[in-house]
Amino acid sequence: MKLRILDNSDKRVSFVLEESDAGFANALRRIMANEIPTMAVENVDFEENSSGAFDEIIAHRIGLVPLTYNRKIHRTKDDCKCDGKGCSQCEVVLALEKTGPCMVKAGDFKSTDDSVQPTDPEIPIVELFENQRLKLEATAQLGFGKEHAKWQAAVVGYKNPVAGRPEDPQGDDVKFREEEFVFEVESVSGLKAAEIVEIALNELERRADEFASEVKKEVK
Ligand SMILES: [Zn+2]
Repeated sequence: MKLRILDNSDKRVSFVLEESDAGFANALRRIMANEIPTMAVENVDFEENSSGAFDEIIAHRIGLVPLTYNRKIHRTKDDCKCDGKGCSQCEVVLALEKTGPCMVKAGDFKSTDDSVQPTDPEIPIVELFENQRLKLEATAQLGFGKEHAKWQAAVVGYKNPVAGRPEDPQGDDVKFREEEFVFEVESVSGLKAAEIVEIALNELERRADEFASEVKKEVK
């Protein structure tokens, strides 16, 4: 199996997976989209909201803002040494305080952790008119796309030029032939597209190793 990069930028990467099969290509696609931890806001505490939008609407919009994080430091709650109680490795607080008139944007958040920042400071949250106020604290944590779309790491598609049609990733008619798959990966999270590919490949390898050692145990 070989991987040949066609194009690579922070947001997008395209590559050809050679001498592989549809089963592997599909597993790689699923992991990249749904099973890589990314950072997003999970809870919002409102102290003041006199804007025209309900708390729920604003909280939903804030949840969809992609956030960067530090892969060396941050852990999912399930994986954290605090047993999910909440600590600086599994929770990050971002504070927001604005008075209108203005458009509140993702860049207005003051993060308590420098490595956790919106990927795009221009993402609009809500418009405030004269004397309207918004004051809140948002708590971000790592999660997975399979739990909620706000944690989706990337939009991933692949096509199989040999078959001459896009593979149906959900279909059962997966052909186990060795062939080529052209992948397009667009990051919709705080991770770079190439990082997403790298993490997904490592994860596939880890699972294969785990499976192999389970099989060995059974055979003994
Ligand atoms: Zn923790």
